[in-house]
Amino acid sequence: MKTTTTDELIERHAVLLLDAYGVLVGTAGALPGARELIARLNRAQKPYYILTNDASKLPETASRRYHGFGLDIEPGRIVSAGTLLPACLAGRGLKGSRCAVLGTEDSLRFVERAGGVPVPIGEDFETLVLCDENGFPFLDGIDRTLSTLYARLDRGDGVHLILPNPDLVFLKSAGDFGIAAGTMALMFESALALRYPDRPGLEFIRLGKPHATIFEEVLRRSGTRDMVMIGDQLATDIRGAREFGLPAALLAGGISTEVPADLSEALRPNYLLESLG
Ligand SMILES: [Mg+2]
Repeated sequence: MKTTTTDELIERHAVLLLDAYGVLVGTAGALPGARELIARLNRAQKPYYILTNDASKLPETASRRYHGFGLDIEPGRIVSAGTLLPACLAGRGLKGSRCAVLGTEDSLRFVERAGGVPVPIGEDFETLVLCDENGFPFLDGIDRTLSTLYARLDRGDGVHLILPNPDLVFLKSAGDFGIAAGTMALMFESALALRYPDRPGLEFIRLGKPHATIFEEVLRRSGTRDMVMIGDQLATDIRGAREFGLPAALLAGGISTEVPADLSEALRPNYLLESLG
């Protein structure tokens, strides 16, 4: 693993893939060096995409928020986990499916755009989509959804479980962390394993990093494998890129603070980036 700079990555690779949380933004604004980097990429017309596991904001909402932080990022450059839902639902024949959606208003819009039919929390559903930890009364929402899920499975009905954002934890700002939708999925999976220990298929289909679906989507958009991923999490950004056959740079100061000594060569970051500047 070699220490590198954004200059070097821009020179060596045709397309930059940038993680959002912990690289470009926190909950309060742009992170150090992000404004300068985005302005520079835009000026140079260097191709880049924001590759984010977020499923709480439509691309137009995210773009407006980025603009508010001084980051001029167009919606078309945002490949978020939520944008993977149309292909996911279509590919599984779930258009028209009654969907329980835990997440924000935009999460509901994502599901609607994908052809799913959101139902109120506590009503029977065929598909459960865990998008985000915000936007609903957390404990009550989890409990009522779990109860509905148990009732459905007790009757012998099937269910589809979809997790756009597999992140366990995210960085809000320096020293301030939050749990994410992936942790909610682990709670549901544990509760399902407890009640139905021998029933197969009670795991979520995971779409975002480190899973291939999101990298396939950005490859479809960019048209080239000459891409480098810049991220702050080994388990999602770095692992996902490396398993997909892309080089990856770990940015210091985010979620992953150390690279385990026993991490295989195939999953190690190719580069260490001290800062975006
Ligand atoms: Mg991150």
